[in-house]
Amino acid sequence: MAQPIRYREEFELQCQMCRDWWPVTLEFWRPNRGLARCLACHREVDRIYRTGVRADEARRSIRNYHARLVYYEHRNDRIRASDTWRKGHPESMKAYRRRYYLAHRDEELARSREQIRNKTA
Ligand SMILES: [Zn+2]
Repeated sequence: MAQPIRYREEFELQCQMCRDWWPVTLEFWRPNRGLARCLACHREVDRIYRTGVRADEARRSIRNYHARLVYYEHRNDRIRASDTWRKGHPESMKAYRRRYYLAHRDEELARSREQIRNKTA
């Protein structure tokens, strides 16, 4: 597979693991380890193998690495979407909070007592 390369102010290579573009400098690449992964991803791979998992589990973690990055990239969008849904469904949220309070009554009481104590102290 040809290494994806582009020019934006300087030459950049695409890492095959995080799919991010990094300038072709020794800060981001280690030519002696090949140009498939950027330095940060090589460190991540090293970390995965250091944890002593089986080889197939390590390979799966490396394969899922990009999916995890995409997940965190869109995490705030999903949080915003569910906030919007909650604002649009006040009755559902009221019922949910009621159920939650009844299920966690002791913890909630302890928490509010703690808050009152901190406020008066
Ligand atoms: Zn990378």
